[in-house]
Amino acid sequence: MSPKKSRHDKVRVFVPPQPSRNGCLLPGPAGQVEAFASASVRARTGSNGRPAWWCKTDKLVVFDGINLRVDGQVTVHTRTSKGLSIARRRGDTETIIIPMDCAHCQEMLNRHEWKYDIQVCKRSVCWDCKERCKWEHEQTNKEHAASVTATTERNRDRADSVLQDNEVSEEDLMQKMGIEQGRPKSPIEAVGGIAERLENTNIWS
Ligand SMILES: [Zn+2]
Ligand SMILES: [Zn+2]
Ligand SMILES: [Zn+2]
Repeated sequence: MSPKKSRHDKVRVFVPPQPSRNGCLLPGPAGQVEAFASASVRARTGSNGRPAWWCKTDKLVVFDGINLRVDGQVTVHTRTSKGLSIARRRGDTETIIIPMDCAHCQEMLNRHEWKYDIQVCKRSVCWDCKERCKWEHEQTNKEHAASVTATTERNRDRADSVLQDNEVSEEDLMQKMGIEQGRPKSPIEAVGGIAERLENTNIWS
């Protein structure tokens, strides 16, 4: 796509996938096929969990990766099912998994995910799908960042509780040993005065 824009070009806006209400994929008895052929469905490949979706232009799209160059150029790596059956070309078979989080869908279809096999091969994609690739990439980064934050917080909580446990047990130990807390001892008090020591020596010698 050319980065050049004339003022006659309409400004294109990418609309991220809209999760259906309650995550339901089945709007009605007649809507089943259309529901799965919606750009709003976020599917995954069975082989390596890559994002996949349906596009009217490109048919099934698998997003394999993205190159973000320092000069701002973005290259997306995609496979699609477009034209494969018409051209009788052979692609790789991918298993596409559509998660179903909706109780209604689970009951109607008697499963927790919808799986199907489809042939795909490396192809470029339309403007919307390229934007979708960038969006999916951002989501993956956000999910990764969120999981790193959660792990860090968990570890910090654990470190705090270990620290508290140590403080408590040290205090307990000192109390058990009869060591008085909160009053600093002078060196003489701690070791004993010379007179006291001499006295002790006299007694025991
Ligand atoms: Zn449903
Ligand atoms: Zn590539
Ligand atoms: Zn597309």
